[in-house]
Amino acid sequence: MLWQRMHYFKLQLSSANSNAWLERLPFDVLDRLLASLSSFACLRAAVLSCKDLYEVYSQRWRTILYSVMENEVGLAFQEALAMSRVTLDLEEYCKEDQVRDIVADKEGPYWTRGVITSEVAYILSQAAYIATSLENLFSFRYKDRSKRLSVLTCSESLAFRRALYRNWIISVLCGASYDEGEDSDYNYDDDDNEPDEEELLKKSGARFVRILSDLDDKSLCAVYQVLLFLDEVTVRTSPRQSFDPRTKDITLKNIPLQTREYTPLEIFYDFQEQDVDHLHDEKHFPASEVVTAGLDDLLIQRNITQMFEGNFGSQVILERVSEDYVTHCHRCHEATAWLYNDTCWSSLEEHIPVRLLVNFLPGLLDQNQSIRFLLQHYARVQVGLHFYHKLMEDIFALQSNSALDWRKDEWVCGECVLGFIKRELYGWLVRRQSQGKLSLSTSNFIILICNKDGFARRKNCWYGYKCRTQTREMVGITPHAQIFNHLCEPDPTKTDNI
Ligand SMILES: [Zn+2]
Ligand SMILES: [Zn+2]
Repeated sequence: MLWQRMHYFKLQLSSANSNAWLERLPFDVLDRLLASLSSFACLRAAVLSCKDLYEVYSQRWRTILYSVMENEVGLAFQEALAMSRVTLDLEEYCKEDQVRDIVADKEGPYWTRGVITSEVAYILSQAAYIATSLENLFSFRYKDRSKRLSVLTCSESLAFRRALYRNWIISVLCGASYDEGEDSDYNYDDDDNEPDEEELLKKSGARFVRILSDLDDKSLCAVYQVLLFLDEVTVRTSPRQSFDPRTKDITLKNIPLQTREYTPLEIFYDFQEQDVDHLHDEKHFPASEVVTAGLDDLLIQRNITQMFEGNFGSQVILERVSEDYVTHCHRCHEATAWLYNDTCWSSLEEHIPVRLLVNFLPGLLDQNQSIRFLLQHYARVQVGLHFYHKLMEDIFALQSNSALDWRKDEWVCGECVLGFIKRELYGWLVRRQSQGKLSLSTSNFIILICNKDGFARRKNCWYGYKCRTQTREMVGITPHAQIFNHLCEPDPTKTDNI
């Protein structure tokens, strides 16, 4: 109904005589019309494009803005509103000393209806987008992998969003002030003159997490589940993954202590872009350690981990999951929601960053700049975000030995796909080269590999992928790595003593 009204309204606005049409409408009708718009952006556009609407808005902006923001945010509006107000007070008005002590007061200024300013509306609008995006991802990973948009029911969505905004408030509070001397009245044990640092942290932290401490067990378990989900999203953001040369594996850095200070907004954008804004990494919030200690202590005191895993079976937000939802990797039987098959190969970047692929080539190819550049270029420019989809489809199409015992539609974990790619990547590159599908020409690089359009193929280097010279950059002359092909086996008849 709302969308229909909006569509009609937009049509009218876009028509040449829109103002004439609007002028005939009573003031109260225009008021209701504005109040039923679906977003802050929509309201802004409407008010700025029509004088009559502007006049109505300037007289009734409080109620109109409140209604529009309720429409845009939808479920868990109160939590979203509190989070937005706290964010504004901390980041714009630097009320670092006040926020922490009043945020938990449900009758206080952050939680009660009151006035929504346009600054708060802007934050709310962003929060609504992030909450929807993260809910889509949560639904895709935990409920239905056949749909990219959320299929959560109303009550599941409400539980998810409430928990998300509560986590968001906690992460924002890491920016509040923390006076180390404020707990000087703490009573230490008589026989222990040294203040117990851990106890101090917990006690101070308890102040920051008061907004959670009055929640019932189920709601607190939901907060915990969303916290785990945010951690999972965080570690699947490319720059936080690294190659371990010792185990020849990709390490997903587990940094739960740090993720408390990243807001869901930062976590989602980093994940979406597969890039980390390094400004986040360098920022250090005064209270992040204290907040973390308080949160961890609350979870321990309330026995949340055991309750979540035991009573709720590690699932407190979803009431029902379809029977064909796969919970374990078909290969290694590991229980995880982060599974892949041919419907979502393109999401593999979240587990296997393309920049690390070169490490899985044999010999010294990982130090060959031409190969590194070529792989990156191929992934980023030629195939874009669908690199993994193309790579996996190519491998399956070629029916190599490894691919023969896999089914494209079976759900496998990132680790198992990584094992598969490790075996297949070199062969895939060699085949692409022989098919003339790898070519590159930039101002800095000469033609690397071409066997079409009249270009002669480069000769194989005798030492193949084991060649040491391919790793050297030589100033002033064309590097050896560019003159010879190294995507080949060493020639044993000519390289007895390598
Ligand atoms: Zn597996
Ligand atoms: Zn060589």
